[in-house]
Amino acid sequence: MDVPRGSDVIHRIHVAAEWLEEGALIEFELPRNLKCAACEGGGCDACGRSGAVSVRGRKELAELVQVTLPKRDESSLESTASGRTLVIRIPERGGIADSPALPRGLLLLSVVPADAADPEVRRIERPAPPPVITEEEALAEQAAADEAPAAAPPPSAPLAKSRALLWVGVVLVLWLLFLAWLRLSGRG
Ligand SMILES: [Zn+2]
Repeated sequence: MDVPRGSDVIHRIHVAAEWLEEGALIEFELPRNLKCAACEGGGCDACGRSGAVSVRGRKELAELVQVTLPKRDESSLESTASGRTLVIRIPERGGIADSPALPRGLLLLSVVPADAADPEVRRIERPAPPPVITEEEALAEQAAADEAPAAAPPPSAPLAKSRALLWVGVVLVLWLLFLAWLRLSGRG
């Protein structure tokens, strides 16, 4: 944890208690100025005695953070509510380091269960998981693709054949009618 990086920051959010029971995925906007984690806002060398750390420039767009809440059962929820804070450590969301080559600090996110979530915190639906193809299924599909051209003739072939036969029949009937007409008109 002692690699050089930007200052660590503290942020506190309230979430609905049932979100914690479900281990919900949430999203919130990260304020630009956050409490310095080293001094908890009291002021230290890391934050220039201000107690606060800026995580982005004034003109930069707001930063959205998504985090999956750790699942809590009822008893651990009670201990969280009675003062034991649940803290999620999120890398690369804290203060910006002096050198751009260094990572940002940690965001120490305190999650407090409440009756209702903070207005800037919202729950988001998890994206649907991609369809799972087991190896066996994938192999079966491959085998089917390999066999297909040899086993089944193109479906249009029988249709084309019967059409050709139909045309031969029509031409034959017309030819016979033509011969009959020649004979009847006395020119045959
Ligand atoms: Zn500080």
